[in-house]
Amino acid sequence: MKAEGQQQTQQDDDSRPKQLPKGVVLGPDGKPCRSCTSFASWAAMTKQQQQPPTSKPTTIATPQPPAQSVTALQPPQDCPPDVEQLGRSSWTLLHSMAATYPERPTANQQTETKQFLTLFSRMYPCWVCADDFRTWMTQGNEPRVSNRDEFGRWMCEAHNAVNVKLGKESFDCNRWEERWRTGWRDGRCE
Ligand SMILES: Cc1cc2nc3c(=O)[nH]c(=O)nc-3n(C[C@H](O)[C@H](O)[C@H](O)COP(=O)(O)OP(=O)(O)OC[C@H]3O[C@@H](n4cnc5c(N)ncnc54)[C@H](O)[C@@H]3O)c2cc1C
Repeated sequence: MKAEGQQQTQQDDDSRPKQLPKGVVLGPDGKPCRSCTSFASWAAMTKQQQQPPTSKPTTIATPQPPAQSVTALQPPQDCPPDVEQLGRSSWTLLHSMAATYPERPTANQQTETKQFLTLFSRMYPCWVCADDFRTWMTQGNEPRVSNRDEFGRWMCEAHNAVNVKLGKESFDCNRWEERWRTGWRDGRCE
């Protein structure tokens, strides 16, 4: 995980550095990045900001990388997404793209898919996630897009790389199509 932008401090109106709760990630502009931070950490930060200043010494924070929230705290549906909500929606889009990818794509479709992934990895709103995704792709994990199954498995491996980083279970990539295209064999998606 790159540290770029993470050493900056959040300033109060009176310019005193304040300690940020664990998990709050700053954006390149030095301000807390909501789409890089779990709602639990975000809520802890806003709660802290509402408290009156204490006489305790303040500390310059080194924000942690985005982490799984320790609680099941979720932002309300009509609020800006946190890192988890953004991630779930994005994986839904990405795996669904793989699920509808042609079995025999044209050369142009393959090129456009790679271009999409390049741009996606530059524009993803959680910048630390995007940085790591780009790095992963350049470490022998270039997109494999020569047919649907290959693309679906590549996407599953990309998702598993993030799962591993976050300490989550890996998904069985032999079942990517059941999860994202056909529905499970037990028929519960029918
Ligand atoms: C490109 C990218 C990079 C990210 N990087 C970070 C990061 O650095 N830090 C961070 O905190 N969050 C990151 N996220 C978000 C993170 O991956 C999760 O989306 C988020 O933590 C919510 O997790 P979740 O447990 O709800 O399910 P998700 O991981 O969002 O998964 C959604 C559903 O997909 C299915 N699934 C799980 N794994 C796989 C797989 N390998 N293949 C196919 N289907 C699968 C499961 O049914 C699961 O319920 C990233 C998201 C994206 C799209």
